[in-house]
Amino acid sequence: MSKTNPYTNALQQLHKASEILQLDSNVLNVLEQPQKVMLVSIPVRMDDGTVRVFVGYRVQHNNARGPYKGGIRFHPEVDLDEVKALAFWMSMKTAVLDVPFGGAKGGITVNPRELSTGELERLSRGYVRETFKIIGPDLDIPAPDVYTTSQIMAWMMDEYSHLAGQYSPGAFTGKPIEVGGSIDRDTATAQGGVYVLLKAAEELFAKQTAPLKVAIQGFGNAGSIAAELLYYFDSKFRIVAVSDSKGGIYDEKGLDVPFAICYKKENGILTGYDKAKSITNAELLALDVDILIPAALENAINELNAPKVKAKVILELANGPITPEAEEILLKNDIVVIPDILANAGGVTVSYFEWTQNRSGYYWSSEEVQEKLKRKMESSFEKVVALADEYKIDLRTAAYLSAVSKIARAQNDLGFHS
Ligand code: NAD
Repeated sequence: MSKTNPYTNALQQLHKASEILQLDSNVLNVLEQPQKVMLVSIPVRMDDGTVRVFVGYRVQHNNARGPYKGGIRFHPEVDLDEVKALAFWMSMKTAVLDVPFGGAKGGITVNPRELSTGELERLSRGYVRETFKIIGPDLDIPAPDVYTTSQIMAWMMDEYSHLAGQYSPGAFTGKPIEVGGSIDRDTATAQGGVYVLLKAAEELFAKQTAPLKVAIQGFGNAGSIAAELLYYFDSKFRIVAVSDSKGGIYDEKGLDVPFAICYKKENGILTGYDKAKSITNAELLALDVDILIPAALENAINELNAPKVKAKVILELANGPITPEAEEILLKNDIVVIPDILANAGGVTVSYFEWTQNRSGYYWSSEEVQEKLKRKMESSFEKVVALADEYKIDLRTAAYLSAVSKIARAQNDLGFHS
């Protein structure tokens, strides 16, 4: 994927919306910079007895609307600009969804697949020891992101609880159910995206009777669960292609998604089974489909491959998968982009539900979670569409308009600019 700086992209999106809003320059100045950046060195005793030092980050972008909130990414290419962009997008996302949090993000530059379970646990606990003073249930609440899991959240919450001297489930979300996780948090990002997609499809594909062809890039928490959920709407959607970092598979007649999930679990990759054709990630993005779902990393769609995209709708389950240059091309080609800060906000919404349940000590049923998630996703989508219609702007700019105006009001109320 291209090396475009994601933080520069994020600021370009902010500036586009702030021009339409004629945003006060004092508000803009505050939003352009994270409020706090922490860089830590985490020494970890490896299984062979040596000590390796890993670099970790926590970026707190904005807390005008509530405590900072955002996931932790473990990936070999994590760097400060990426974490700053992801933190910024969290502030926007929580505002679009009216979730009472600010925005933050964390990361460690590491390939977790190269570590043993014990090394991964020591690294996760080390991250919490180094960032302990700036995180907590009323301060900054991390969650999973790329290559971090509910198990990692359990270790982190346990370490935090030891340091705090009290059981503190509300310090992390995305935990296993047994230690205070919410029912349906694991499926929430994909499920939230599906609720939005179903609403969008009612209008955008109103006349189409044949199943809508879908291609999904990224087959982790967001991508594989979206594939599975859409697979069960078999008269409405047909998943024709999916991919992971090693490549993808394609079947024009529709993939057997549950089989692909089992195959990936057993073999670690998607490619190589004879029920579908192997394709590259570049080929997947250019397929003749109705809906394209990027669910991997930033900058997947850039100015080089955007002209080849044939999908009519793009649902951004990943954060920042389209560069601003690519977006101009897509919009000129009348492709509807449902932006990340709306499309993948189901994750932070159920994280908010988890945090609420942890604080009240009362746990909800799946029906309650789904009913509240659906309502939040659909009403946020409708508000963004209404703004897009009113200002005659694209959905991303409308989502930013919604977010920035709410944060600006909170900043003014708190006296951030006085
Ligand atoms: P994950 O670790 O579960 O899965 C990541 C997937 O992306 C894996 O299948 C991996 O093979 C694939 N991938 C990595 N590099 C790739 C490449 N170059 N080309 C194609 N595929 C590649 O992570 P996730 O939680 O599913 O996160 C995916 C995206 O969704 C990220 O942008 C993340 O920030 C975003 N997101 C996740 C959540 C959440 O709750 N997990 C919430 C909101 C947004």
